[in-house]
Amino acid sequence: MAAEQSARVFASAATAAPGWEWPWWRTTHHDRMVLPWFVLIHLTALAGLILFPLPGWRLLAGAFALSWIGGIGTTVCYHRALAHRALKLNPWIEAVLTFFAVFNGSGQPLTWVASHRIHHANADTADDVSSPAWHGFWWAHLRWLWQAEAPAIGKFCPDMERSSYRVWQMLQMPILALSFFGGAYFGLAAFFWLGAIRLVFSLHAQCFVNSVCHTEPNTPIGEDSSRNVRWLAPIHLFQGENWHRNHHARPALARLGRNWRQPDAGYGVICLLEKLGMASEVRRARAVAEIGV
Ligand SMILES: [Zn+2]
Ligand SMILES: [Zn+2]
Repeated sequence: MAAEQSARVFASAATAAPGWEWPWWRTTHHDRMVLPWFVLIHLTALAGLILFPLPGWRLLAGAFALSWIGGIGTTVCYHRALAHRALKLNPWIEAVLTFFAVFNGSGQPLTWVASHRIHHANADTADDVSSPAWHGFWWAHLRWLWQAEAPAIGKFCPDMERSSYRVWQMLQMPILALSFFGGAYFGLAAFFWLGAIRLVFSLHAQCFVNSVCHTEPNTPIGEDSSRNVRWLAPIHLFQGENWHRNHHARPALARLGRNWRQPDAGYGVICLLEKLGMASEVRRARAVAEIGV
């Protein structure tokens, strides 16, 4: 009886402890599949790199193209359009970009946007869901994805509580299955390079925004630690997310780079979509200054 009681006390104490104090392998109930998924794609990618270290230019171009359009889905659609409302996308374009973001392993839009808004609301404080200063590099880079509390969708995404966004929760698993296995149609090397290797590359490229882009040296704890990290530009395929200090300074802007020396292909895509009539209400510096954001 005493043993049962102490086991219960231990269990409740372990549950009450915040995620960053747990052992790395423990997962929350709502994100039970994240860690096994990461283990699967990393082991498969490793096997692929050993078996097919030189994939040839066609496979490299295919993997690059999928990662690039997936990254655009995340930065243009999830981040700039949905999380910050820095532009409005045509609903069809929004759906296509969301598909490729999910395909690239960025998760469904509701949880991505809620987690991101929580990050901005609490940036660099103890409540920052992905702060490397408070909870360590590996927590910020990966662990929060399976150990953080579920984001409060109702509180942080009341504007997105619609079936057109909820539907991606259901679609996520089949889309990820297609993403992981789909390359097999083109052969074994394609299975590895278009699937797991591309997914692992895209995962870490995106996770660097939370870990590396919040490590400005000599920043007192609790103050803005965001950084523009130039060496991340090619890893982010020049899509602009590495200009993270710019972004924290003016989160409502559609453009993340400030000049031609800070490449921002995401903004280039936005301008192109705007010209084609598929994006509107693009928030630029002057307009944002006028309304005081
Ligand atoms: Zn940030
Ligand atoms: Zn943001």
